[in-house]
Amino acid sequence: MGAVRTPLIAGNWKMNLDHLQAVAFVQKLHWTLKDAKHEDGSVEVAVFPPFTDLRSVQTLLDADKIAFALGAQDLSTKDAGAYTGEISGAFLAKLDARYVIIGHSERREYHNESDDVIAAKVQAALRHGLTPVICVGETAEDLEKFGASAVPVGQLEKALEGVPADTEIVVAYEPVWAIGSGQAATPEQAQDVCAKLRGVIGAAMGEDAAARTRVLYGGSVKAANIASFMREPDVDGALVGGASLVVDEFASIIRFQK
Ligand code: PGA
Repeated sequence: MGAVRTPLIAGNWKMNLDHLQAVAFVQKLHWTLKDAKHEDGSVEVAVFPPFTDLRSVQTLLDADKIAFALGAQDLSTKDAGAYTGEISGAFLAKLDARYVIIGHSERREYHNESDDVIAAKVQAALRHGLTPVICVGETAEDLEKFGASAVPVGQLEKALEGVPADTEIVVAYEPVWAIGSGQAATPEQAQDVCAKLRGVIGAAMGEDAAARTRVLYGGSVKAANIASFMREPDVDGALVGGASLVVDEFASIIRFQK
């Protein structure tokens, strides 16, 4: 271990902000963050707008040389063809998307995405040079029955099947009961599961991969609690939902001080 992992603060906008609102938001965030540490590369910032915003946000980031990475919230298991309504990883790569969220609990729950579908999406992302942000986490019921780590560990094991050792991935531990609830996990709980997930990466992809891969915590992260998570050795950043939609709050999260 001991690899330096650049913290990643990722804003998952979910189904919020149309393309006009997205452009205004990114401009305001950029302006608010002037002189912030993402400019010197000590923190990476990524935004995950809805599909219909991606082109507008990409054009803005490019034109104004804004140092935010772009990500999508999902992709198809397929690359092209007669799949009405699907979005190919090839299209996302053409838009300079660097990341794609895969296996968010809202996709698992509302779109019945199984571990097999999620594993296929990871492979689809890799075929197009996208870095998958693989989300795992237990429901409140799972927590009661199996404890915190068993379900996310099992989900990650499946998602990493067949992923080569030299691949860049990001893992996000998001307890479902903490998402949008205002009730975040404690830093100790997050650390415990994130360390176990790093162990899964080590078993599947080797110790180098475990040491360099960023494992994020997500679930009711806000400006007031980000530092407590970032102090934990196995938490390398945050996947932020609600608080990533408020410019000042998201800027404060990005500016966290341990
Ligand atoms: P939240 O969402 O920050 O609103 O809890 C996190 C997520 O779903 O990624």
